[in-house]
Amino acid sequence: MSLNLFKKKNDAKQSFFSVFDNNRFFIKMMFSASPSYVIYTALDGVRNELSIFLEHTLLIGYVLEAAEFNYPFKRVGLIILIAVLLISLGMVFTVYAGNYVAEKERPKVREGIKLKLYEKARSVDLECYDNPEFYNELVLSISEVDNRIDRVSAFLRGVCESITVLVTTGIYFLTKDGRSIIFVLVSFILMYIFSLIYNRLNYNAKISKNPHERERDYVKRVFYLNDYAKEVRLNTEVSEVLLQKFENANDEVYRSERRFAGKKFIVDFVRKHIFSNMLGDVFYISYLIYLATVPKTIALSALVILFNSFNRAVYGLKDLTDCYSTAAETGLYVQKIRNFLDYKLKVVSHGDAVPTASAKKVELKNVSFAYSSNPENVIKDISLTINPGEKVALVGYNGAGKTTLVKLLMRLYDVTEGAVLADGIDIRDYNLNKYRDSIGAVFQDFEIFAASITENVIMEQGDKADKDRVDKALKDSGLYDRVLTLKDKSDTQITNEFFDDGVNLSGGENQKLAASRVFYKDNSLMILDEPSSALDPISEYQLNQAMLKATSDKTVIFISHRLSTTRFADRIIMLENGKIVESGSHDELLKQNGKYAAMWKAQAGAYIKV
Ligand code: ADP
Repeated sequence: MSLNLFKKKNDAKQSFFSVFDNNRFFIKMMFSASPSYVIYTALDGVRNELSIFLEHTLLIGYVLEAAEFNYPFKRVGLIILIAVLLISLGMVFTVYAGNYVAEKERPKVREGIKLKLYEKARSVDLECYDNPEFYNELVLSISEVDNRIDRVSAFLRGVCESITVLVTTGIYFLTKDGRSIIFVLVSFILMYIFSLIYNRLNYNAKISKNPHERERDYVKRVFYLNDYAKEVRLNTEVSEVLLQKFENANDEVYRSERRFAGKKFIVDFVRKHIFSNMLGDVFYISYLIYLATVPKTIALSALVILFNSFNRAVYGLKDLTDCYSTAAETGLYVQKIRNFLDYKLKVVSHGDAVPTASAKKVELKNVSFAYSSNPENVIKDISLTINPGEKVALVGYNGAGKTTLVKLLMRLYDVTEGAVLADGIDIRDYNLNKYRDSIGAVFQDFEIFAASITENVIMEQGDKADKDRVDKALKDSGLYDRVLTLKDKSDTQITNEFFDDGVNLSGGENQKLAASRVFYKDNSLMILDEPSSALDPISEYQLNQAMLKATSDKTVIFISHRLSTTRFADRIIMLENGKIVESGSHDELLKQNGKYAAMWKAQAGAYIKV
């Protein structure tokens, strides 16, 4: 099924083509964020190796040859001067490209790629976030971006360097002794094989550590994040359990490190030392001495430069194989990013209908729904009509399906069977963004953002605010008096995440702030999911009255465990196990003396007199 999006290609062995293609894809992403960064990185790699070739092979070779065959000093001096000038020009280019352009452009590359990923993360179906596998992979992909940009830049530069080394030394070998290339190729093939093994080991080691490292990070966060500080202090047993978890996770990380360390060491040793040293230093030098002394086909000055070039070619190839292993590792990560970016949204607009501003009529026709993680329906064949302007309360015990039902109304998920209609049109036929925009919602697990109070109300940049409407929204939610006590009033920053003088509001105040969003936004359908759960009974009563007043001409669906809140609804719908079991006004349902009445009696004593 589609949620296994990260399984698709990662587990398959990567072909050379997919390694190449994934790196090409990432370089293209970098290029679209900053073309100059990519171009200068590549050119600087070429420049670097051209300079080395010019100095170490051509210049030194020429000087040695001049000494061996007594060339005139003037000619030698002139050639040295030209070479020094060329090398200096190259240095100037490096300072410009490497130190100036790359530093200036790197943040642009990071921002460009991350924005693409965030944009996608924002739009993928909510269903994806219910899937831990998806979530882990997403977090891993995003957290790796900076690292990958550095690695891919190094890769690009490395490839350009290696290719320049191979082309220049290759030409040199062909002019002096073509057979030397065979020595170089043999080393290359052997090192390539071992690099692949090494790369796979590295990746497996990282993947096997990943779940335990995440566990470790979670415990670390619990101990230093403000949000957990109170609970951790009050519940010492929780701390014990977490510390135990931390130790276990550490042990697991250590165990997987140890499992791979030995193998990695041997493979690395063989590829780095045995091949290059054995083949290079022993066999090749013997071969060159033979050429210089027996058939006398090369001069002594050429012997020195050939040996030097051989080492450069071997190390150039070694770098290329190293580049390849980095590229293969990057390929696996990029594949995750590509799978993520390629993820086909399921909840998409099927039409382009635009919702009207007037109160919505909502109809559910034989709606059933199952979460993808569990085939059992949690909403079972519900049919229901909510008239424009009606205030409907959904009640029921935990797990009855209330939140799921409102998520279906908002099209955060699509129904498995049946249809939801708004003003007679299937909600799948609306433009998705416009449809969602037409609904105002406050959830029990609302989030307050590290931004100003005004921005938290309007959910946009502060300068787009209609000040009077913001004040009114804050008054309606009951937060206005508190805002007046703050130094910067509604410009006060919430949380001290970005500003030292930011204010942390209480749970109830935050809830009022979240409710202000609904008062500010002019929506034709309001969904209030436990909007007052953190408030004391009086504030709750006030907030509910304010909400009913502010939404008098809107269709409102609200969920609350506290029946004292829902009793004012025009109609109460009681859900149980994904089905409607009772429906009617508060008084009707009490008369019926069924499940709602039983629930009411259990709660009524708490704070409301009937
Ligand atoms: P309520 O809001 O009435 O407490 P919910 O709609 O949250 O009920 O839950 C209805 C059922 O769906 C429960 O059995 C719950 O465990 C299940 N459920 C809720 N969210 C998910 C999810 N994201 N993935 C799988 N099952 C879920």
